[in-house]
Amino acid sequence: MTRTAVIVGGGIGGLAAAIGLHRTGWEVTVLERVGALRPVGAGLVLQANGLRCLDALGVGTRVRSDGYEDVTGGTRLPDGRWLARISAGELEQALGTPAIGIHRAALHQILLDALPLGALVTGAEVVRVTEDGEVTQREPGTGREHTVNADLVVGADGIRSAVRGALWPEAAAPSYVGVTAWRGVTPVRTRDPVVGITWDRGAEFGIVPLADQRVYWFAALNTAPGEPRGDEKARVLTRFGRWHDPIPELIEATTDVLRDDLACLDTPLPTYVKGRVALLGDAAHAMVPNLGQGGNQALEDAVVLAAVAHRRDGLQAYDRLRRPRSQRVAKASRAVGHLGQQLSNPVAVAARNALVRVTPPRLALRSMARFADWHPPSLD
Ligand SMILES: Cc1cc2nc3c(=O)[nH]c(=O)nc-3n(C[C@H](O)[C@H](O)[C@H](O)COP(=O)(O)OP(=O)(O)OC[C@H]3O[C@@H](n4cnc5c(N)ncnc54)[C@H](O)[C@@H]3O)c2cc1C
Repeated sequence: MTRTAVIVGGGIGGLAAAIGLHRTGWEVTVLERVGALRPVGAGLVLQANGLRCLDALGVGTRVRSDGYEDVTGGTRLPDGRWLARISAGELEQALGTPAIGIHRAALHQILLDALPLGALVTGAEVVRVTEDGEVTQREPGTGREHTVNADLVVGADGIRSAVRGALWPEAAAPSYVGVTAWRGVTPVRTRDPVVGITWDRGAEFGIVPLADQRVYWFAALNTAPGEPRGDEKARVLTRFGRWHDPIPELIEATTDVLRDDLACLDTPLPTYVKGRVALLGDAAHAMVPNLGQGGNQALEDAVVLAAVAHRRDGLQAYDRLRRPRSQRVAKASRAVGHLGQQLSNPVAVAARNALVRVTPPRLALRSMARFADWHPPSLD
């Protein structure tokens, strides 16, 4: 008999899990609370580990052709001086694949196209889940509730997960990390920008070229909690508009500037599984974006879950294989955030910059590859 899986949440992790589980013989349904999936979000960097997962899901070739291979890059200061540089090809040589910059909407569309027909149900907000695999969704508008049973329930509903809230009531809520991030995508780029990060005290700006001549940028700033929202583009321009080229031009060219007050799950969960339910992605281990691994880890979760879920000890195996690694990555992301963007003491910043300047490129590369150099299990 075909086993059924209900996946709560149609983000990167949920869609990838649905594709993977379908490939390994499950009948899948994705319940997504948003009424209509629109092309939202900014960019994303997919690293070797995430790209290999997308290969395992059968969509890697399309992702590579819709993305942009990151080339020469490194770390700079606001006046444009380089602290460290990595030339084109070095990362690819080290890992066997380059990192890819891709628009989130493009990645989402590729994943949606790979779903089995009729698997996605939108406008379906999940309000209750039990360990026995009972999932209750509420229709928007009518408020009518509808319950289904599944052999497997996947909580892929993001940092404010309702599934985690229902079955892990003792888990600490996500906490604000003291940083606000802004993201944007320019409609066009005038010349080839160099990928990389620029650091100042308590602030950073990142540039990631995308396909179609567009550029994804992000900015982050130490910020007190509860800062009111306003003209976010003006705010970014005020703080970053005098930094090196092409930063001012990129901000000016952007129409939609997205703002996120960054939060993460600082207290690691003691388990990712309860009964027939497994958490994945941000629902399980929301992390700060300083290593660019949140989405990549969600992809790893999805492929590993799909590879082991059919086993008798499937969910225990998933927990054993995924929890230690994803929690290590989350912890390292926080440490990188503290030492990188969040560092604001001038003496500490000078010492960090001096250290980055003298670090041999091979060592810098090895630390970049530390989490990206990971291979998923095969789903065939
Ligand atoms: C500024 C910033 C930059 C980042 N950059 C990178 C990067 O370069 N590389 C990288 O790998 N990661 C990056 N990340 C992290 C990455 O965005 C997340 O880790 C990733 O999106 C998590 O995917 P997910 O599917 O687990 O959750 P989400 O993307 O949050 O998806 C959850 C889905 O569940 C739905 N949902 C929620 N509640 C319910 C409910 N009750 N019922 C039904 N549906 C529900 C939501 O509508 C949503 O569609 C970044 C994050 C930030 C904030």
